[in-house]
Amino acid sequence: MHFLDPVSPAILSKVMKPARYTGYEWNSVVKDLKPAMVNFVLAMPDVYEVGMSNLGLKILYQILNQRADTFAERTYAPWVDLEAEMRNAGIRLYTLETKRPVAECDIIGFSLQYELSYSNVLNMLDLAGIPLLAAEREATQPLVACGGPCAFNAEPMTDFVDFFILGEAEEVISEVAAAIADWKLSGKLNGKAGILRQLAELQGVYVPGFYEAEYDAAGRWAGICTDIPEAKQTISKRVIPDLDQVMFATKPIVPFIEIVHDRIMLELFRGCTRGCRFCQAGVLYRPVRERNIETLLGYVQALIDNTGYNEISLVSLSSADYSCLSPLINRLTTRFKPQGVSVSLPSLRIDSFSIDLANQVQQVRKSGLTFAPEAGTQRLRDVINKGVTEADLIEAVSAAFRAGWSTIKLYFMIGLPTETDEDIAGIAALAQQVADLYKQIKGRRGAKVTVSVSSFVPKPHTAFQWFGQNSVEEIERKQRLLRSLIKDRSLSLSWHDARTSFLEGVFSRGDRRLGKVLLRAWQNGVKFDGWSDHFRYNIWMDAFAAENVDPAAYASRNRDIDEALPWEHLSSGVDKSFLVREWQAAQQGAFTPDCRHKECGACGVCRNLDVKVVDWGQA
Ligand code: SF4
Repeated sequence: MHFLDPVSPAILSKVMKPARYTGYEWNSVVKDLKPAMVNFVLAMPDVYEVGMSNLGLKILYQILNQRADTFAERTYAPWVDLEAEMRNAGIRLYTLETKRPVAECDIIGFSLQYELSYSNVLNMLDLAGIPLLAAEREATQPLVACGGPCAFNAEPMTDFVDFFILGEAEEVISEVAAAIADWKLSGKLNGKAGILRQLAELQGVYVPGFYEAEYDAAGRWAGICTDIPEAKQTISKRVIPDLDQVMFATKPIVPFIEIVHDRIMLELFRGCTRGCRFCQAGVLYRPVRERNIETLLGYVQALIDNTGYNEISLVSLSSADYSCLSPLINRLTTRFKPQGVSVSLPSLRIDSFSIDLANQVQQVRKSGLTFAPEAGTQRLRDVINKGVTEADLIEAVSAAFRAGWSTIKLYFMIGLPTETDEDIAGIAALAQQVADLYKQIKGRRGAKVTVSVSSFVPKPHTAFQWFGQNSVEEIERKQRLLRSLIKDRSLSLSWHDARTSFLEGVFSRGDRRLGKVLLRAWQNGVKFDGWSDHFRYNIWMDAFAAENVDPAAYASRNRDIDEALPWEHLSSGVDKSFLVREWQAAQQGAFTPDCRHKECGACGVCRNLDVKVVDWGQA
């Protein structure tokens, strides 16, 4: 059943990009919703173009809609222009498929990709007319769930969320839908607590309302406790042992307007065991599990048939690490190039093998290459376990310039543990070396080198989770220092706002007490914090002060190795002892090799979750 479009053409004509809000796109699914079915709303707390580019939501949309007992719809954060119109006209947040009010569905599941989207979750719930606090929602109102990487430190969001899903949701999402369907059939037996108790029994599901948070005499997090039998002391992530056995998004929705990733997204594998010590994804998605090349070729054929896209982007944490990449690209280009389909590789390793690959996929358009040395000196690259040398970078960039590229982007982070001003100067020196290299090779100037510098945020579940983040003032001082050192006209510098990184750091390592700060800041007007022109730092700082919460105590404080951490009951499968070893190795600058090619580094995930590395190159 379709509801009347809540947003009239008269309103849509007043807002930017009205196609964000109309629905009816190719491959979108509309079902006749029966009372016994589960109406699942998949939500992204960001604009349509960002939400539509999320591969995880595309996969879940297809899995849920294959179920006869479930109808999955979508909703995204309306941009501020439409939100103002909706609030003026009293229009509630609605689904794109049937224009049904989100408040009438059974469950709304948000994907939490980064901490700066939290205020948008509150804003969307409010716009939907759903009470923000989980404790105030009844069984007649939607369950609110969250997944994605931020679920691995759920605590700052626990006031608002009924349950979290940890890890890969392909299997557990069906178990959740089945449980809700049964609960509805039973007449919602035992109310909301009844379904939450059932869900708490599933591996990978965390129901925060079943736990009390405890703090020590100094006011520091001390752990959680519960007397609900179904609530586990440690909640382990879900992991798919064999990716070839689960559904992939072979029939994704094709938008009417350009989105961030407006092409086929072919996920080659999950996980990365290179072991960069700052990288949360490298821990959360362990171990590496590759898809078979034949499986991938089958997906591509289906994706081209179902979407009409003519570009395939090979997406994974580090796509160049796919063990069968060369044969895959060969077969993709041989089979699909005659149809005008091109292949692109978004991430590159720093070696000349990658340049050969880039050449293979970018024979015509040499649009620019991106490398991520991450740190300016070898000492600091050893601390972070980057595993690349200056010589590797010079060799790769030389090969790129010789092959015809002239535009290079270099990614760095500042504020890393043990960093000194010498490391900052090293960034400028390395970038200058790259610019000079072009002149040496080509005999003329003309390289365009962009130095992109982000600020390091310590993330839960990583070896750097104990490290206190640099203050806003210190990051801004380092940014000024770097600006003063970059003078060459072929170099350009971009950097992140130190204040957004600070807020990200607060919530990244935060606990339940941040819920009241988030609520107050949202009440005072924050939203779209990840969008620089909407970020309101002063409102946030006022909210911390009003709630008597010190943000620096979360972001800037070094944590003791023995201190209880607010995410330790949420397990990635990796042992704490491994992270401690890596933290100590970082301080000695000792290298830990990739377990995929060398011996197992005993991180614990394979043993703890009964899963193993899948590498088709070694099979
Ligand atoms: S348990 Fe060993 S093989 Fe498995 S991901 Fe960890 S280090 Fe690698």
